[in-house]
Order: sequence, then C-alpha cells, then structure tokens
Amino acid sequence: METVTVKIRPHAETFTAEEDAALRRAGSIIQSGGLVAFPTETVYGLGGDALNRESSRKIYAAKGRPSDNPLIVHICRLEDMEKITCRVPQEAFRVAEAFWPGPLTMILHKSGLVPTETTGGLDTVAVRFPSDKTAGKLIEYSGGYVAAPSANRSGRPSPTLAKYVAQDMDGRIDMIIDGGRVGIGLESTILDLTVSPPQILRPGYVTEEMLSRVLKEIDTDVTILGTDSGQAPRAPGMKYRHYAPKGELTIVEGCSDAVIQYINGQTAAKQEQGERTGVICTSESRPRYSADAVKCVGSRGDEESIARNLFSALREFDDECVTKIYAESFEAAGLGQAIMNRLLKAAGHRVVQV
Ligand code: AMP
Ligand code: MG
Repeated sequence: METVTVKIRPHAETFTAEEDAALRRAGSIIQSGGLVAFPTETVYGLGGDALNRESSRKIYAAKGRPSDNPLIVHICRLEDMEKITCRVPQEAFRVAEAFWPGPLTMILHKSGLVPTETTGGLDTVAVRFPSDKTAGKLIEYSGGYVAAPSANRSGRPSPTLAKYVAQDMDGRIDMIIDGGRVGIGLESTILDLTVSPPQILRPGYVTEEMLSRVLKEIDTDVTILGTDSGQAPRAPGMKYRHYAPKGELTIVEGCSDAVIQYINGQTAAKQEQGERTGVICTSESRPRYSADAVKCVGSRGDEESIARNLFSALREFDDECVTKIYAESFEAAGLGQAIMNRLLKAAGHRVVQV
C-alpha cells in the first residue's frame, strides 16, 4: 500500500481551502474503512472508524498490537459521548466540562453502537475529545467516531513528529497528516469512571491534583509506578512492553553528583567495549556528560519541556544507533508522575540507585 503524506500547518486553528480539502479526503478514507495517522495535542494517533469492526482489526494489524489492548474512541462534540456510552455517571459530565476538549480519556460503559473489536473485548469504552483543531476537523469529516491508538508499532515510543509515524507505518496505512511537532508529547491521562471512586489508570498531562478539583475522591492504579506489586494493571494495555528504544535503557536514581559520576563511569566503560552510548539529562547537567549522544530534555524545573522531548529523545537514539542509554530520574509528582511512568516502562523498570 502506498502511504500518502499531506501537510497541515502546525497547530492550525483554521484551515486554508487546500488544507480543508486534504482533511475531507482523510475523512473519506476513514469513512470507507481506511487508516489515517494524524496529530493531536498529546501524540500522533492512528485513526480508523471506531464503529467499523474491520477498521479496528486493521489498526491492530498495522500496529502489531495485541487485540486485547483496547483503542480510545475520539470524538469532536460532547453530545456524541452519549451515543457510544450508557449509564454515564454525573461525575463524567463534571470532568468533561473541566477538561474537554483536552488530553483526558474517560472509561465509560459502552453502548451497542461500539463493536467489541474496538474495545478489546470489554464492555467499557475509552472516550476522548481532543483539543487539537486538525484532529477535531478530521474526526468531524470521518463521521464523528475515530478509534486512535498512538501511531507507533506496538512497544515503540509514541510518535511526536510525522517522520516517526512514517518510520513505523509507511506502507501499512493510507495517509499521514503531518501537522508538525505535537504540543504535550505524552499520551492522555486515562480516568476510569465505571468504578467508584474514579480511578486513574494512566497518568498524563491532566494530573491527580487537577482532577481532585472536580472529583471528591480519586484512586490511582497502584501499578502506575510500581515494579513488583504483583498486580495486573487495570488498563489492559499497560501490561505490555511500551515506549522502548532499541538500545538498553537504564534509569539512574540518586543525588545529582553521584548520578553524573555513575553515568560517566558506565558510558566510558561501555564505549571501550564498542557500544554507542547515550544519556537523557537536563540542561543543568548536560555539560558534564561525555557519552556519544547526550539528549537534553529541558530544564529540571520545566516538566512540560521534559514531557514534550522525552519520546523524541528515545527515537533519536534509535536514529543514531545508540546501544546503551542512561537516563536521569525525575520527581514523580504532578506531571512528573506521567514522565516517570513512561520512562520506567521504556526502561523495562531497569533502575539503578547510586
Ligand atoms: P494508546 O491507544 O496507545 O494510547 O493506548 C490506549 C490505552 O487505553 C491502553 O493502555 C488501553 O489499555 C487503555 N484503554 C482503552 N480502553 C480501555 C478500557 N475500556 N478500559 C481500560 N483501559 C482502556
Ligand atoms: Mg500507545
């Protein structure tokens, strides 16, 4: 299959006639059962018609994703939520009012309209209303319900640029909409509203603290940062290997000087063994590293920058054939919880304390 790429100006709010025509074409591809990758405010999504079981099967095949790992259904109007769900609790409307459109996914009971292929066999459905205008227009032109997991091959870091979508999906899907670099860089927060109290299944840009402003009580899935809880995560997808670069990634925890000294010792030794080494660090420590590839994800206090640059740093290591990677650790509060959740999974929970 030939994969066509079309360009939309990054973070466009309105569209030129040419862009609008491209989005209509993308919408008609989805309506006729094809797949289109598109930018959202979080990461690039791989979109197909959420109400068409064949489209969902194609998404699993293109990603190489296990079919029990459910997809998120993207909508572009709040009123559409009620057509694909049932028994929606009052809290869901409060959460929607506060955070939609935006980087938050709600798990709700599904209606008969949604095929179980889309929900990985579950009787619940994940629903998100993205704020990105390109995503919104595409969803509208696609008929209103777009199933869209992240547009990477299963297990790989989520794409934050169209070129990373192409690396994984070229020849497997019909179209890529290139809308430049995404804004947030980590996937949406997932909140399960089918349990009481509501439970965070995946941390993201919308933090527990932000949610607690509209919900009296919230639980967090204990497996989010844990390594040996012995419990299976409640979001089925979270049990799989995720976000992994090709090189072996180790997170190093400890006080800053000890971390830098340890990483420099490791990278020097690995270089001698012929490995290509990489480091994920912050602007404060960058000048002190001597690995082959040193990726600064931003300043330590700027978590939004760290979130935005993390997945692209992991992809760049692959581009540069890095085989051993060491990452500094980050505070696991606020947005840091989402950052550490992704980093720990990317590292397969390989953590060294120094
Ligand atoms: P991705 O599409 O790559 O962002 O992954 C979507 C995540 O949403 C996966 O971890 C899924 O397990 C989770 N998810 C989707 N639908 C449900 C659901 N009905 N119940 C629980 N988790 C879900
Ligand atoms: Mg994903």
